[in-house]
Amino acid sequence: MQYSIWMNSKNRYRDDWKKDFTKLQKAGISNVFLSGSIEEIENALKFSDEFNHKIHTWIFTMICNDEEIIKHHPDWFTVNGLGERSCYKPQYVGYYKWLCPTHPEVQEYLQKRVEKLCEISELAGVHLDYIRYCDVILPKALQPNYNLVQTREEPQFDYCYCQHCRTAFKKQNSIDPVDLVNPSENLKWMQFRYDSISNIVRILKDKIHHYNKKATAAVFPTIMQKNVRQQWHKWNLDAVYPMLYHSCYDEDFNWIEEETRKGKSLLKSTKLHSGLYIPAIKPDDLRLAIDTARNGGADGVSIFDFNSMKDEHWEILFS
Ligand SMILES: [Zn+2]
Repeated sequence: MQYSIWMNSKNRYRDDWKKDFTKLQKAGISNVFLSGSIEEIENALKFSDEFNHKIHTWIFTMICNDEEIIKHHPDWFTVNGLGERSCYKPQYVGYYKWLCPTHPEVQEYLQKRVEKLCEISELAGVHLDYIRYCDVILPKALQPNYNLVQTREEPQFDYCYCQHCRTAFKKQNSIDPVDLVNPSENLKWMQFRYDSISNIVRILKDKIHHYNKKATAAVFPTIMQKNVRQQWHKWNLDAVYPMLYHSCYDEDFNWIEEETRKGKSLLKSTKLHSGLYIPAIKPDDLRLAIDTARNGGADGVSIFDFNSMKDEHWEILFS
Protein backbone atom coordinates (compact mmCIF):
# COMPACT_ATOMS: atom_id res chain seq x y z
CA MET A 1 0.00 0.00 0.00
CA GLN A 2 1.28 3.39 -0.98
CA TYR A 3 0.45 6.53 0.96
CA SER A 4 -0.21 9.88 -0.69
CA ILE A 5 -1.39 13.25 0.59
CA TRP A 6 -2.98 16.41 -0.78
CA MET A 7 -1.26 19.53 0.45
CA ASN A 8 -1.45 23.29 -0.09
CA SER A 9 1.84 25.12 -0.53
CA LYS A 10 0.57 28.54 0.61
CA ASN A 11 2.58 30.42 3.23
CA ARG A 12 5.19 27.73 3.71
CA TYR A 13 8.84 28.65 3.83
CA ARG A 14 12.17 26.89 4.29
CA ASP A 15 11.73 25.77 7.89
CA ASP A 16 8.07 24.80 7.35
CA TRP A 17 8.97 22.57 4.41
CA LYS A 18 11.78 20.86 6.31
CA LYS A 19 9.48 20.24 9.27
CA ASP A 20 6.54 19.04 7.16
CA PHE A 21 8.62 16.86 4.88
CA THR A 22 10.25 15.20 7.88
CA LYS A 23 6.75 14.37 9.12
CA LEU A 24 5.73 12.93 5.73
CA GLN A 25 8.86 10.81 5.61
CA LYS A 26 8.27 9.46 9.10
CA ALA A 27 4.69 8.56 8.12
CA GLY A 28 5.90 6.70 5.02
CA ILE A 29 4.13 8.95 2.53
CA SER A 30 5.41 8.46 -1.03
CA ASN A 31 3.46 10.98 -3.10
CA VAL A 32 2.67 14.60 -2.28
CA PHE A 33 0.12 16.48 -4.38
CA LEU A 34 0.99 20.13 -4.00
CA SER A 35 -1.28 22.97 -5.04
CA GLY A 36 0.10 26.46 -5.54
CA SER A 37 1.83 28.72 -8.02
CA ILE A 38 4.84 27.63 -10.03
CA GLU A 39 7.06 29.69 -7.69
CA GLU A 40 5.60 27.99 -4.61
CA ILE A 41 6.04 24.53 -6.11
CA GLU A 42 9.62 25.30 -7.13
CA ASN A 43 10.31 26.58 -3.66
CA ALA A 44 9.02 23.34 -2.08
CA LEU A 45 11.10 21.27 -4.50
CA LYS A 46 14.24 23.06 -3.35
CA PHE A 47 13.85 21.48 0.08
CA SER A 48 12.72 18.00 -0.96
CA ASP A 49 16.06 16.60 -2.15
CA GLU A 50 16.92 14.82 1.07
CA PHE A 51 13.49 13.17 1.35
CA ASN A 52 12.10 10.05 -0.33
CA HIS A 53 8.67 11.26 -1.39
CA LYS A 54 7.80 12.42 -4.90
CA ILE A 55 6.21 15.80 -5.53
CA HIS A 56 3.40 16.21 -8.04
CA THR A 57 1.70 19.47 -8.91
CA TRP A 58 -2.03 19.41 -8.08
CA ILE A 59 -4.12 21.55 -10.43
CA PHE A 60 -7.78 22.61 -10.52
CA THR A 61 -7.98 21.76 -14.22
CA MET A 62 -11.35 22.96 -15.56
CA ILE A 63 -11.92 25.66 -12.92
CA CYS A 64 -10.62 29.09 -13.90
CA ASN A 65 -10.80 32.25 -11.82
CA ASP A 66 -8.15 34.20 -13.74
CA GLU A 67 -9.65 37.69 -14.14
CA GLU A 68 -7.75 38.34 -17.38
CA ILE A 69 -9.15 35.20 -18.97
CA ILE A 70 -12.69 36.01 -17.81
CA LYS A 71 -12.32 39.50 -19.28
CA HIS A 72 -10.83 38.53 -22.63
CA HIS A 73 -12.28 35.04 -23.20
CA PRO A 74 -15.70 34.73 -21.59
CA ASP A 75 -16.61 32.39 -24.45
CA TRP A 76 -14.20 29.80 -22.97
CA PHE A 77 -16.59 29.21 -20.05
CA THR A 78 -19.41 26.69 -19.82
CA VAL A 79 -23.08 27.64 -20.30
CA ASN A 80 -25.92 25.96 -18.39
CA GLY A 81 -29.32 24.86 -19.65
CA LEU A 82 -30.73 28.31 -18.86
CA GLY A 83 -28.10 29.96 -21.07
CA GLU A 84 -26.10 31.37 -18.14
CA ARG A 85 -22.31 31.41 -18.39
CA SER A 86 -20.46 29.99 -15.39
CA CYS A 87 -17.91 32.85 -15.29
CA TYR A 88 -20.72 35.37 -14.70
CA LYS A 89 -23.15 33.17 -12.78
CA PRO A 90 -21.32 30.37 -10.98
CA GLN A 91 -23.53 27.75 -9.27
CA TYR A 92 -23.19 26.63 -5.63
CA VAL A 93 -19.98 28.55 -4.86
CA GLY A 94 -18.33 31.68 -6.22
CA TYR A 95 -15.30 29.92 -7.66
CA TYR A 96 -17.34 27.46 -9.78
CA LYS A 97 -16.29 29.11 -13.04
CA TRP A 98 -15.72 26.23 -15.43
CA LEU A 99 -13.89 26.12 -18.74
CA CYS A 100 -15.57 24.24 -21.57
CA PRO A 101 -13.58 21.12 -22.49
CA THR A 102 -14.91 21.20 -26.07
CA HIS A 103 -13.57 24.66 -26.90
CA PRO A 104 -10.36 24.35 -29.02
CA GLU A 105 -8.81 27.44 -27.39
CA VAL A 106 -9.42 25.98 -23.92
CA GLN A 107 -7.69 22.77 -24.98
CA GLU A 108 -4.73 24.76 -26.23
CA TYR A 109 -4.61 26.90 -23.09
CA LEU A 110 -4.66 23.86 -20.79
CA GLN A 111 -1.98 22.11 -22.80
CA LYS A 112 0.28 25.13 -22.46
CA ARG A 113 -0.43 25.36 -18.77
CA VAL A 114 0.46 21.71 -18.21
CA GLU A 115 3.51 22.00 -20.46
CA LYS A 116 4.86 24.86 -18.36
CA LEU A 117 4.52 22.71 -15.22
CA CYS A 118 6.13 19.72 -16.92
CA GLU A 119 9.17 21.85 -17.66
CA ILE A 120 9.99 21.74 -13.95
CA SER A 121 12.39 18.82 -14.15
CA GLU A 122 12.22 17.67 -10.51
CA LEU A 123 8.44 17.31 -10.63
CA ALA A 124 7.21 13.68 -10.59
CA GLY A 125 3.84 14.29 -12.16
CA VAL A 126 0.75 16.38 -12.77
CA HIS A 127 -2.32 15.59 -10.69
CA LEU A 128 -5.56 16.68 -12.37
CA ASP A 129 -8.34 17.74 -10.03
CA TYR A 130 -11.69 19.29 -11.07
CA ILE A 131 -11.31 17.39 -14.31
CA ARG A 132 -15.05 17.27 -14.88
CA TYR A 133 -18.21 19.34 -15.32
CA CYS A 134 -19.94 21.18 -12.50
CA ASP A 135 -21.99 18.72 -10.38
CA VAL A 136 -25.43 18.51 -11.96
CA ILE A 137 -26.47 16.86 -8.69
CA LEU A 138 -24.44 17.41 -5.51
CA PRO A 139 -23.47 14.62 -3.11
CA LYS A 140 -26.46 13.94 -0.86
CA ALA A 141 -25.10 15.25 2.42
CA LEU A 142 -23.93 18.52 0.85
CA GLN A 143 -27.29 19.53 -0.62
CA PRO A 144 -28.71 20.96 2.64
CA ASN A 145 -25.72 23.36 2.79
CA TYR A 146 -27.20 25.06 -0.28
CA ASN A 147 -30.85 24.61 0.72
CA LEU A 148 -31.29 22.18 -2.14
CA VAL A 149 -33.09 18.90 -2.62
CA GLN A 150 -31.85 17.56 -5.95
CA THR A 151 -33.75 14.55 -7.21
CA ARG A 152 -33.24 15.09 -10.94
CA GLU A 153 -31.06 17.06 -13.34
CA GLU A 154 -32.20 20.69 -13.49
CA PRO A 155 -31.13 23.04 -16.35
CA GLN A 156 -29.57 25.50 -13.89
CA PHE A 157 -26.84 23.00 -12.99
CA ASP A 158 -26.62 21.19 -16.33
CA TYR A 159 -23.67 22.06 -18.66
CA CYS A 160 -22.53 22.74 -21.35
CA TYR A 161 -24.74 24.45 -23.90
CA CYS A 162 -22.15 26.85 -25.33
CA GLN A 163 -22.00 27.44 -29.06
CA HIS A 164 -19.06 25.05 -29.49
CA CYS A 165 -20.81 22.17 -27.76
CA ARG A 166 -24.11 22.80 -29.56
CA THR A 167 -22.46 22.94 -32.99
CA ALA A 168 -20.29 19.87 -32.37
CA PHE A 169 -23.21 17.81 -31.07
CA LYS A 170 -25.53 18.90 -33.88
CA LYS A 171 -22.93 17.98 -36.47
CA GLN A 172 -22.82 14.44 -35.08
CA ASN A 173 -26.48 13.95 -34.25
CA SER A 174 -28.48 16.44 -36.36
CA ILE A 175 -30.11 17.98 -33.30
CA ASP A 176 -29.19 20.99 -31.21
CA PRO A 177 -28.99 19.89 -27.53
CA VAL A 178 -31.06 22.93 -26.49
CA ASP A 179 -33.94 21.35 -28.43
CA LEU A 180 -33.83 18.08 -26.49
CA VAL A 181 -37.01 17.65 -24.43
CA ASN A 182 -35.31 15.56 -21.74
CA PRO A 183 -31.59 16.24 -22.09
CA SER A 184 -30.74 14.09 -19.04
CA GLU A 185 -32.32 11.05 -20.72
CA ASN A 186 -30.56 11.45 -24.04
CA LEU A 187 -27.74 8.90 -24.01
CA LYS A 188 -25.90 10.50 -26.93
CA TRP A 189 -25.86 13.89 -25.24
CA MET A 190 -24.69 12.27 -22.03
CA GLN A 191 -21.92 10.45 -23.89
CA PHE A 192 -20.91 13.66 -25.68
CA ARG A 193 -20.16 15.22 -22.29
CA TYR A 194 -18.33 12.13 -20.99
CA ASP A 195 -16.26 12.12 -24.19
CA SER A 196 -15.49 15.85 -24.00
CA ILE A 197 -13.86 15.34 -20.62
CA SER A 198 -12.15 12.09 -21.67
CA ASN A 199 -10.76 13.93 -24.69
CA ILE A 200 -9.17 16.74 -22.68
CA VAL A 201 -7.74 14.12 -20.30
CA ARG A 202 -6.17 12.32 -23.27
CA ILE A 203 -4.65 15.56 -24.59
CA LEU A 204 -3.16 16.43 -21.20
CA LYS A 205 -2.04 12.89 -20.44
CA ASP A 206 -0.12 12.72 -23.74
CA LYS A 207 1.58 15.98 -22.89
CA ILE A 208 2.49 14.82 -19.35
CA HIS A 209 3.80 11.48 -20.61
CA HIS A 210 5.83 13.25 -23.27
CA TYR A 211 7.81 14.70 -20.36
CA ASN A 212 8.08 11.26 -18.72
CA LYS A 213 5.96 12.28 -15.77
CA LYS A 214 3.04 10.57 -14.07
CA ALA A 215 -0.49 11.58 -15.09
CA THR A 216 -2.98 11.09 -12.27
CA ALA A 217 -6.39 12.49 -11.31
CA ALA A 218 -8.65 13.08 -8.32
CA VAL A 219 -12.01 11.63 -9.35
CA PHE A 220 -15.52 11.11 -7.99
CA PRO A 221 -16.79 7.79 -6.56
CA THR A 222 -18.33 5.45 -9.15
CA ILE A 223 -21.88 6.30 -7.98
CA MET A 224 -21.24 9.96 -8.87
CA GLN A 225 -19.52 9.52 -12.24
CA LYS A 226 -22.67 10.46 -14.14
CA ASN A 227 -23.34 13.59 -12.08
CA VAL A 228 -20.00 15.09 -13.05
CA ARG A 229 -19.68 13.37 -16.47
CA GLN A 230 -16.53 11.46 -15.62
CA GLN A 231 -15.85 8.08 -17.22
CA TRP A 232 -12.50 7.87 -15.50
CA HIS A 233 -12.16 4.14 -16.07
CA LYS A 234 -11.64 4.97 -19.76
CA TRP A 235 -8.84 7.47 -19.19
CA ASN A 236 -5.90 5.05 -18.89
CA LEU A 237 -4.05 7.29 -16.48
CA ASP A 238 -1.17 6.06 -14.34
CA ALA A 239 -3.41 6.24 -11.27
CA VAL A 240 -6.78 7.57 -10.15
CA TYR A 241 -7.60 8.84 -6.68
CA PRO A 242 -11.36 8.52 -6.08
CA MET A 243 -12.39 10.92 -3.34
CA LEU A 244 -14.18 8.40 -1.12
CA TYR A 245 -15.38 11.04 1.29
CA HIS A 246 -17.96 8.86 3.01
CA SER A 247 -19.49 11.65 5.11
CA CYS A 248 -20.52 13.57 1.96
CA TYR A 249 -22.76 10.64 1.05
CA ASP A 250 -24.00 9.78 4.58
CA GLU A 251 -22.02 6.55 4.40
CA ASP A 252 -19.66 4.61 6.68
CA PHE A 253 -16.31 2.86 6.19
CA ASN A 254 -17.95 -0.20 4.56
CA TRP A 255 -18.82 2.08 1.68
CA ILE A 256 -15.13 2.98 1.24
CA GLU A 257 -14.39 -0.71 0.79
CA GLU A 258 -17.33 -1.18 -1.60
CA GLU A 259 -16.43 1.85 -3.73
CA THR A 260 -12.77 0.82 -3.83
CA ARG A 261 -13.75 -2.64 -5.05
CA LYS A 262 -16.16 -1.24 -7.67
CA GLY A 263 -13.53 1.21 -8.92
CA LYS A 264 -10.85 -1.48 -9.15
CA SER A 265 -13.17 -3.75 -11.13
CA LEU A 266 -13.57 -1.03 -13.79
CA LEU A 267 -9.85 -0.46 -14.29
CA LYS A 268 -7.22 -2.39 -16.23
CA SER A 269 -3.67 -1.17 -15.65
CA THR A 270 -4.52 2.12 -13.90
CA LYS A 271 -3.77 2.04 -10.16
CA LEU A 272 -6.44 3.10 -7.68
CA HIS A 273 -5.74 4.94 -4.45
CA SER A 274 -8.70 5.53 -2.13
CA GLY A 275 -9.03 9.14 -1.03
CA LEU A 276 -9.78 9.46 2.70
CA TYR A 277 -11.51 12.52 4.16
CA ILE A 278 -9.69 13.24 7.42
CA PRO A 279 -12.22 15.74 8.90
CA ALA A 280 -14.69 12.81 9.11
CA ILE A 281 -12.22 10.26 10.48
CA LYS A 282 -11.31 10.25 14.17
CA PRO A 283 -7.64 9.47 14.86
CA ASP A 284 -8.61 6.19 16.54
CA ASP A 285 -10.46 5.13 13.40
CA LEU A 286 -7.78 6.05 10.88
CA ARG A 287 -6.16 2.62 10.86
CA LEU A 288 -9.56 1.00 10.30
CA ALA A 289 -10.31 3.36 7.38
CA ILE A 290 -6.99 2.43 5.77
CA ASP A 291 -7.70 -1.26 6.30
CA THR A 292 -11.12 -1.04 4.65
CA ALA A 293 -9.50 0.51 1.55
CA ARG A 294 -6.92 -2.28 1.58
CA ASN A 295 -9.67 -4.91 1.88
CA GLY A 296 -11.35 -3.39 -1.18
CA GLY A 297 -8.15 -3.94 -3.14
CA ALA A 298 -6.75 -0.39 -3.17
CA ASP A 299 -3.19 0.13 -4.40
CA GLY A 300 -2.90 2.86 -1.82
CA VAL A 301 -4.69 5.53 0.17
CA SER A 302 -4.51 9.28 -0.20
CA ILE A 303 -5.10 11.67 2.65
CA PHE A 304 -7.24 14.78 2.33
CA ASP A 305 -5.62 16.79 3.47
CA PHE A 306 -2.39 17.79 5.22
CA ASN A 307 -4.00 20.71 7.08
CA SER A 308 -6.77 18.48 8.50
CA MET A 309 -4.31 16.08 10.09
CA LYS A 310 -4.14 16.42 13.88
CA ASP A 311 -1.13 15.27 15.91
CA GLU A 312 -3.14 12.21 16.94
CA HIS A 313 -3.69 11.26 13.26
CA TRP A 314 0.04 11.54 12.62
CA GLU A 315 0.75 9.33 15.63
CA ILE A 316 -1.32 6.57 14.04
CA LEU A 317 0.67 6.80 10.82
CA PHE A 318 3.98 6.88 12.69
CA SER A 319 3.15 3.71 14.62
ZN1 LIG B 1 -19.29 24.04 -24.16
